[in-house]
Amino acid sequence: MRIDLHAHSSVSDGTDTPAGLVRAAAAAGIDVLGVTDHDTSAGWAAAAVEAEALGVALVRGMEVSTRFRGRGVHLLAYLPDPAYPPLVTQLRAVLEGRDARVPGMVDRLRDLGVDLTVEAVRRVAGPTAAVGRPHVADALVEAGYVASRAEAFDRYLSPGRPAYHGRAAVELEAVLDVVRAAGGVCVVAHPWGRHDPGVLDAEGLAHLRSRGLVGIEVDHQDHDVAARAELRGIARALDLVVTGSSDYHGTGKVDHDLGCNLTAPDELARLLAAAEDAAREAGRSGTPMLWHGRAPV
Ligand code: AMP
Ligand code: ZN
Ligand code: FE
Ligand code: FE
Repeated sequence: MRIDLHAHSSVSDGTDTPAGLVRAAAAAGIDVLGVTDHDTSAGWAAAAVEAEALGVALVRGMEVSTRFRGRGVHLLAYLPDPAYPPLVTQLRAVLEGRDARVPGMVDRLRDLGVDLTVEAVRRVAGPTAAVGRPHVADALVEAGYVASRAEAFDRYLSPGRPAYHGRAAVELEAVLDVVRAAGGVCVVAHPWGRHDPGVLDAEGLAHLRSRGLVGIEVDHQDHDVAARAELRGIARALDLVVTGSSDYHGTGKVDHDLGCNLTAPDELARLLAAAEDAAREAGRSGTPMLWHGRAPV
């Protein structure tokens, strides 16, 4: 059973369409796929059609841009009702913030002598619901200033680089509350990732557990062997679900191939049971996992 719970489509900053992402997952032998675009559920419907056709079980999710203790943290929200008005409001605020920061990034690049326009970023980004730094990177590639997204981040867009612009975010604890009330569950994405060093220590994770966090993404390419072992120990001590995933972005991110990290079936079962509890407690239905008549776990 190959379970990959974190992947992006072109609805945010991945390079495969939602249907193409599901096809790529099927080709990679993935049985259960989490579609988790940044701050949007816009890819769910198209992914579900393809998943149904190909017999891939689909876990509908999103990776929400949150703030915790003043720092950015990515929070994976699985199976919330996407129409729950407080969730819609939170996501709208983040998406509007994403739109609003593009001109700021373009201005900083122009100050550096890079001839780029907001329109060029928009065109390269296409119909994405969640425009971000990767689209600015793609525009820089297209204009010939850099060879790859990675080089664009290294030279211009990473924290500490001259065109870096922090992302809009909502308070993590507010997202925990709203996702739970929407019948969903939350897992911290890559808590000790390249881009979030030192934000979430064991104490912080324990605090979030007390506020309703359900799991930790332990097996992620940003975590080395030692970090994974330590995070696994913290998860066990706190009785948190352990997930593993690729954080696939298509050709947009190297070394994140579908299935490069996997989630154990019993951990997925715990995640789904917690989502059922959340939906029952909230007195509303969350978004059920799409099984296609066969239960992989
Ligand atoms: P944003 O949400 O607009 O702040 O952009 C964050 C996204 O940029 C994340 O999805 C990362 O995967 C991506 N990203 C960060 N650093 C790099 C990098 N060096 N190369 C490619 N993508 C990156
Ligand atoms: Zn991304
Ligand atoms: Fe992330
Ligand atoms: Fe991600």
